[in-house]
Amino acid sequence: MEHVYIGLGSNLADPAEQLRNAVQALGQLPDSVLVGVSAFYQSDSLLPGQPRYTNAVVALDSDLAPLALLDALQAIEIDQGRERHERWGPRTLDLDILLFGDRLIDEPRLKVPHYHMQARPFVLYPLAELAPVDLQLADGRTLKALLADCPFVGLERLPH
Ligand code: ATP
Ligand code: MG
Ligand code: MG
Repeated sequence: MEHVYIGLGSNLADPAEQLRNAVQALGQLPDSVLVGVSAFYQSDSLLPGQPRYTNAVVALDSDLAPLALLDALQAIEIDQGRERHERWGPRTLDLDILLFGDRLIDEPRLKVPHYHMQARPFVLYPLAELAPVDLQLADGRTLKALLADCPFVGLERLPH
């Protein structure tokens, strides 16, 4: 099985409830075992005029192929009312594959490690609850080094 980290985000229609429902759905994925859920974190949207986001990270052990997992995640997004209008628009649920074992994936539909995770505190801090700090990304940088470059600013950790 591969060890997979998934980033969850929502800023519409009761974000915390969206994330709880998503965690439940992730726990029911075929050929996969949910092995960790971070706390939920709130932060302002990077784009002005959008509601605040709630984010979390889930760890999964999975035998699914990467694109099969992406299909399953997109089905969960749609199931929870995701509509894609503009890029980075408000959303009921976003599920991104952050890391898939130590694989480097560069396909039209799937880039892993997720290309923006290194600079996003709402990804790195929940990830750090689940992953070892000496976790290395494909480019060799450790999670610890990424955290050092990404201050805990504007994040609010919610009680479980
Ligand atoms: P961002 O990628 O900046 O977090 P987003 O999550 O809002 O933005 P989406 O609209 O959810 O972007 O996804 C756009 C496309 O990104 C998807 O159709 C998917 O094929 C592609 N994609 C590429 N790499 C990944 C990944 N690692 N996880 C999820 N989707 C990915
Ligand atoms: Mg995203
Ligand atoms: Mg996405």
